[in-house]
Amino acid sequence: MILEVKNLQKIYTTPFSKKPPMEAVKDISFQIKPGEVYALLGPNGAGKSTTIKMIAGLIHPTSGKILLGGKELGKDVSVYKSLSAVLEGTRNVYWRMNPLENLHYFANLRGVSSKIVSEKADKLLTELEIDAKKKNQSQHLSRGMLQKLALGVALITDPKIILLDEPTLGLDVSSSRKIKEKIKYLTKEEGRSILLTTHQLDLVEEIADRVGIIRAGKLVVEGTLTELKSVFKTSIYRAKLRGVWKPDKKIISKFSIKIRNEQQGLTEIDLDAKSKKGSFEFLDYINKSSLELVSFSKLEEDLEEIFLRVLETK
Ligand code: ATP
Repeated sequence: MILEVKNLQKIYTTPFSKKPPMEAVKDISFQIKPGEVYALLGPNGAGKSTTIKMIAGLIHPTSGKILLGGKELGKDVSVYKSLSAVLEGTRNVYWRMNPLENLHYFANLRGVSSKIVSEKADKLLTELEIDAKKKNQSQHLSRGMLQKLALGVALITDPKIILLDEPTLGLDVSSSRKIKEKIKYLTKEEGRSILLTTHQLDLVEEIADRVGIIRAGKLVVEGTLTELKSVFKTSIYRAKLRGVWKPDKKIISKFSIKIRNEQQGLTEIDLDAKSKKGSFEFLDYINKSSLELVSFSKLEEDLEEIFLRVLETK
């Protein structure tokens, strides 16, 4: 395991205030393997940023342990050399310096020599498509360019694990694609690990190997997308019917039928057949009616549906 988070807890207290202590993270444990993209999801205020900030060493856990490559964070400062973080977009970029100077400055601060930075910088800036602006003051870069520079600054130190908070938020289609490809390359080709927090579920579906869902400071569900899809499997079908659609109330409630669209003699409905057997019962009902079945298909669960269901039920 490259990263192990064990029974992590964070209670925020506000000194000299009557505010009660706030337990933002309650006993969270998870692990990340080399080459893996792990996405931490959860509604606003669930405790994702608090967790990621504790891993980045920006705030101290109230209790629990974080191990990087088997070594405990906080006890051995050298462990941080193998970790980089891009939190809240562009914070790890110094605005008065140009991109090239930023790479040198932050790499030097973390003990990487200028010689090594010079060898890598041009390739990295070209890959991130900010090489044309490498001598412009960073404050004049666009938001997307700053975001990419922040990633460059994180990568120049050759980290084994990278923490990324909303890496593609606000990026144009092409920049967003580049970042996704880069994430895939960093993990699948170079064996680095990425801990990602985002609200962009399509990004998660595209690049995450495993997903953990946090709710009110607790990790309530964890698994690969395939595992989550099988656990939260539903039997929702979509049918398109031609003819006069007038089913009795019993059928509507039995299959929890929802009408999606009704026009020109065609009715599109979603139904919960509960099981394969149920789907045949519905087809039998249609067969005995005067309706013609135009199409009938099972809906694939997407991550958004799973996410909402987890929050409703867990
Ligand atoms: P979002 O998706 O909105 O970014 P999040 O999952 O990252 O949310 P956190 O920022 O970790 O959530 O916040 C978790 C809880 O801790 C929230 O109730 C928040 O108000 C509280 N909190 C965060 N930072 C502090 C702080 N410095 N002092 C006190 N409470 C805090």
